[in-house]
Amino acid sequence: NADTAMYRAKSSGRNNFQFYTKEMNATSGERLSLESDLWHALKNDELFLVYQPQIDLRDGTVIGMEALIRWQHPKRGLIAPMDFIPMAECNGLIIPIGIWVLETACRHNLQLQKEGLPPIRVAINLSARQLSDRNFVESVQSVIEAIGLDPHYLELEVTESMVMHNVEDVVVTLNDLNKMGIQLSLDDFGTGFSSLAYLKRFPIDRLKIDQSFIFNCDSDPGDAIIAQTIIALAHGLKIKVIAEGVEKSEHLSFLKKNGCDEGQGYFISRPLTFDDLRMFLLTGKNPH
Ligand code: C2E
Ligand code: MG
Ligand code: MG
Ligand code: MG
Repeated sequence: NADTAMYRAKSSGRNNFQFYTKEMNATSGERLSLESDLWHALKNDELFLVYQPQIDLRDGTVIGMEALIRWQHPKRGLIAPMDFIPMAECNGLIIPIGIWVLETACRHNLQLQKEGLPPIRVAINLSARQLSDRNFVESVQSVIEAIGLDPHYLELEVTESMVMHNVEDVVVTLNDLNKMGIQLSLDDFGTGFSSLAYLKRFPIDRLKIDQSFIFNCDSDPGDAIIAQTIIALAHGLKIKVIAEGVEKSEHLSFLKKNGCDEGQGYFISRPLTFDDLRMFLLTGKNPH
């Protein structure tokens, strides 16, 4: 399984798959204990979400937020998604974790609305295994109904590589979600193995320009033209475009000048805990 191999290669801290070594042995032991810890993380409340604000580049208002998962491990401290989501993909825990993410993000978003804040959308990241799960559409439907969030304020992020596998089934799933009123975005756009022909077939609302094209968009002509082309492509297809990885004011000016609709990144705001996000939206003061 390619995911497993990639996960092993990543967790061994190398780019290639390595033969068995003493060092590797320790690493796989560690991996086993982290894996069994993850089974308990959910019920022990060790997982939490941070939210990164997304702004409308025309006027700077916050129009959305992306939920990003974190694991506060009792012994190892804070663990980033890249260090446990691939593992959860492999062992199937991503299914209950994904439902927890969906429930938590919808509940938090509804809470902001109930406090009288202007409604914004919340985006959550999906993994391939969730999208191919037979019960996925049904479980999304029952979560949003149970929580009572208007589906227009929920966005699901998928990547090119996720949708290129099994295109026929994915089109059906994405159409079902789209009919429910949920927004769909294509994350890390431009980095995957993509076929532009599919863009016409998927009911996508938004392209997310991958951060790797944004980091040097103000200095590297190649990155600049790629970013400009993705903006033109999205607008030609009548969909929105958002840039991720906006780290400097130069990035922001480039994107505004080139008509990008929305942006997110450290220059705008770091991902915030729910309480910090709430205070930021209520007072306009960013705690970072
Ligand atoms: P992503 O969805 O592409 O998320 C963007 C990543 O870039 C996040 O890393 C975010 O914290 C980081 N970031 C945001 N602004 C900036 C910036 O200005 N500069 C730089 N250098 N980085 C920035 P994070 O939180 O570590 O998440 C990494 C990836 O893990 C995400 O990439 C997403 O693919 C995955 N992920 C996160 N949460 C979940 C989840 O709940 N479920 C699933 N399946 N995957 C998740
Ligand atoms: Mg994302
Ligand atoms: Mg991304
Ligand atoms: Mg990603």
